[in-house]
Amino acid sequence: MLTELEISKLWVERHKKAKKKIKKCYFPGCNEKSINSHILQKNGILSQISKNSHVWEKKINQFSKENFFFEESGLNNVFAFNCFCSNHDKELFKKIEDNIIDFNDYESCLLFTLRTLYNEIYRKEILVEQIKFLMKSNKSSEMNLEFLLEFMKQQLLGIKDLQENEEDIWTDYNNGTENFIFQYREITKIDICLCAFYNYETTSEMHDYKLAKGKDMERISEVFINFFPYNNKSILLMGYNKKDEKKLKPYINTFFKESEAKVQTKITNLLMFACETWVVSEKLYKTKIQKVEDIFIAAIHYAIDNNNEREFFKVNIFKETYYSEMQKVKRYVC
Ligand SMILES: [Zn+2]
Repeated sequence: MLTELEISKLWVERHKKAKKKIKKCYFPGCNEKSINSHILQKNGILSQISKNSHVWEKKINQFSKENFFFEESGLNNVFAFNCFCSNHDKELFKKIEDNIIDFNDYESCLLFTLRTLYNEIYRKEILVEQIKFLMKSNKSSEMNLEFLLEFMKQQLLGIKDLQENEEDIWTDYNNGTENFIFQYREITKIDICLCAFYNYETTSEMHDYKLAKGKDMERISEVFINFFPYNNKSILLMGYNKKDEKKLKPYINTFFKESEAKVQTKITNLLMFACETWVVSEKLYKTKIQKVEDIFIAAIHYAIDNNNEREFFKVNIFKETYYSEMQKVKRYVC
């Protein structure tokens, strides 16, 4: 068998090749080449938390000894991927990039979902390409093919779920309909940018459903979240498809009705367990995360082992007490 280090190296190398394969504009029907663009505006939003054009991000390598780690990244690469062609990239986002953003405007909120959604699809497509490359490589006989196939299946299912929302987003964009419910609030500014679609259902709930019914859940409830600094506050923008209203309304409402401290705790837990695409400033990384990085990563593994992405600890990264709260988490997870 290949060593972990060898697989990890192959994985990183394949990542670069996979990126080159996904290069078509995501706008429906457009065949132009996509350009590298940022999920959130680089100048204006991301630049607010950068120092010398760098920020810190949580990274994942499925095959390295430690899957999760933090790394400093340049603003040009972070939160960036091949999304739309240069025409569509320029035209689509005028409303939220050239003007003051009106978070009460439905179409503006919808535009925020677009790049977030395609980034999630893109990340899964890259994983599928990476797995295909690994399986075709001359080293494939030395790998755990069953694991790779299952991993690929999960990514393809995830893409399918996202595509259901993709269709509804374009329907709204083209016809002025409202398939989604958006809510936003302003809270105390913190140096975090977060953009994700995440499953409300936990892995354990999906397993239980499959065991009971003998098939996969027909529909996964996807939660849209953007969280970023804007005008000396942090904006929390969340949304969900009306098809998922019954399940998601009570859950999402808590983010908008509860006290700011409770919401800060919820966001902290989302960073740890549910969302993968987020970056922080060097200052936030050094003062909050670095000191407790081992506990932070142990907590992620703890949630994965329990198949529970809605794992919840009373920790609040916005507050000075975060370090001592994480010491309590340590007792559970280390
Ligand atoms: Zn295009």
